[in-house]
Amino acid sequence: MRQGKFLKINRRFFLGQSVVSALAFLWLGSIQSCSTLDEYLIEDQFDFDQDVIIVGGGISGLFAAYELKKNKIPFKLFDSNSRFGGQIQTLDQVEWGAYQFKKTDHFLIKLAEELNLEIEYHNKTNWSFKKGASILVAELLDLIQGIMPQRQLKQGYKLTSIRKIGYRYQLVFNNNERDRIYFAKKVVLALPSAALRQIKGLDSLNADVQSIYHVLQDSKYLTALRVYFPIDRIRSAYKIQNRKSMIEKISLQHAQQLNKTDTVKIMYDELNGLSYLTVYCVEEHPIRYFENIQNLIGNLVDDKFVLTTDHVKDWGPLIFKGSESQNLGFGFEIKADQVLKALPSSSFLQIISDGFIAEDSEKSQIEQLLRMVRAQMSAFKADI
Ligand SMILES: Cc1cc2nc3c(=O)[nH]c(=O)nc-3n(C[C@H](O)[C@H](O)[C@H](O)COP(=O)(O)OP(=O)(O)OC[C@H]3O[C@@H](n4cnc5c(N)ncnc54)[C@H](O)[C@@H]3O)c2cc1C
Repeated sequence: MRQGKFLKINRRFFLGQSVVSALAFLWLGSIQSCSTLDEYLIEDQFDFDQDVIIVGGGISGLFAAYELKKNKIPFKLFDSNSRFGGQIQTLDQVEWGAYQFKKTDHFLIKLAEELNLEIEYHNKTNWSFKKGASILVAELLDLIQGIMPQRQLKQGYKLTSIRKIGYRYQLVFNNNERDRIYFAKKVVLALPSAALRQIKGLDSLNADVQSIYHVLQDSKYLTALRVYFPIDRIRSAYKIQNRKSMIEKISLQHAQQLNKTDTVKIMYDELNGLSYLTVYCVEEHPIRYFENIQNLIGNLVDDKFVLTTDHVKDWGPLIFKGSESQNLGFGFEIKADQVLKALPSSSFLQIISDGFIAEDSEKSQIEQLLRMVRAQMSAFKADI
């Protein structure tokens, strides 16, 4: 009897459980559109009054997050892309973006030591990360993500507009074709200039930001493409001691015939058995121009290589204006009246952009960028 009752209760319990499971199953099915269950359960929180919102998960945004985390200041980081790192990307040991740093990059060398990252010199003055530049991104990500990374670091969120309402900023992000609105008292825009100028509302913020906005609107942009090929495929004619300068010179002549752009600079470099050609040019949408580079490569190497431009689109161009000559810090003289050197900031809106550093040709761009981030984050901390 006892046993029967026990069985009966158990069966009822079992049936009940089945119904709950079935409902749970149906409910799960209905939320398939959410990228993860985790994200659905967490539910977006719209007021981030206690957090700093960082927009942009390239090296400057990640480093800003790292600086805040060290000081126990809570933050949320948003990136429009489905990966972090921005203009740094190592894929299958190929460097698609930044990878080369200088002996005089003391800040970056110290950071590498702090993060236990091995570096190696490939000539007297230049070094790179032994495991590829993306190791810096991976390490910073590892250090900044909390126990619920989905909550702290958001991918696929593109900032489209910003405005100030009372004491807070209202940020509109596009995520999966939906607008999501967040409020925060403190915002860091860690975006390259081309991305920055697409954001609506910068012109309605304070006078400092407005002046930046206007420079962004009527400036020219410099952009870059990286192509690579194995060193042993280089035509024998170029296999001479000074092939670096020879390849640069020939490439440049060829590139200028292909398409007339204001300025073209080609830089050749070798790393881990690969030849890298980096093409910088002044054009906002240089895809058509870059497609022609395939012919150029054909001139230099024995085989034909298929050139993909997929990696170009997220790379942030540098900004410049006018006609005075300036050295952009990586050996590229451009003509510009004005290259913004430092950014003013409002009390809580900080703008970090690689378009605004152009001071020291002895230092790599990322070295200068990270120094700027640290200085700005220190000022930021004092403000909080
Ligand atoms: C081909 C190439 C080679 C280079 N080589 C070197 C080198 O050897 N050494 C060196 O020091 N520097 C080099 N640089 C420059 C260096 O890579 C950049 O200065 C640096 O990576 C910029 O970092 P960032 O975080 O400011 O911007 P980014 O790396 O551009 O990151 C910005 C991030 O913001 C995201 N984003 C953009 N718009 C939005 C939006 N509206 N909402 C949300 N997120 C958004 C992007 O997805 C991206 O992840 C090179 C650059 C290129 C293109």
